[in-house]
Amino acid sequence: MVSYLPPDHFEKKVPDGDDRERLICNQCGWIHYDNPKIIVGVVATWQNKLLLCKRAIEPRSGYWTIPAGFMELLETAEQGAAREAWEEARVLVEVETLLGVYSIPRAGQVHLIYRGHLTAPEFSPGPESLDVQLFDWDDIPWDELAFLSNRWALRHYYESKDLATFPAFTVPAEDVATVASPPCLKSAQKSQTCSQRSPDETE
Ligand SMILES: [Zn+2]
Repeated sequence: MVSYLPPDHFEKKVPDGDDRERLICNQCGWIHYDNPKIIVGVVATWQNKLLLCKRAIEPRSGYWTIPAGFMELLETAEQGAAREAWEEARVLVEVETLLGVYSIPRAGQVHLIYRGHLTAPEFSPGPESLDVQLFDWDDIPWDELAFLSNRWALRHYYESKDLATFPAFTVPAEDVATVASPPCLKSAQKSQTCSQRSPDETE
């Protein structure tokens, strides 16, 4: 696990008017806010088939995922989803409706997952993938999906595939407790000076 220690002149304390500890520079007063990361991804289709990538990197190397990853600066969420599809599957995707907004407190992440379609049935594994394939719904390798969020997005895609508009889906009720921040992680974040994330949902 990668963690970092702040420079010696950073101290953890509660800023005026705040209600939780932050890392504060005791030389210039600059406050470092540690907030959730945004993951962007896409359930991409070609003629009712769904695009999945077999991961070549940890975590969950060898398991299948929809294209998704950390949003970058200077891009929109939609652009990020299309970029991830290109990076992982060398595929051009037209990003459409927002499908799901999934909060994963245990990983400090919010996932914005879109629907989209391939502009041509052309794809190949990018550097982060071992394989890329289009799957019929009945052939999706449910037991070999990399992340819970893949399962949610694929199911929600299927539930809404014939709808032009719909409210974005969220974490299914039965999984909310699973992805909540466990008490030990909360206390660890209070007592340590480094930011430690559960790696199991890092994409
Ligand atoms: Zn400073």
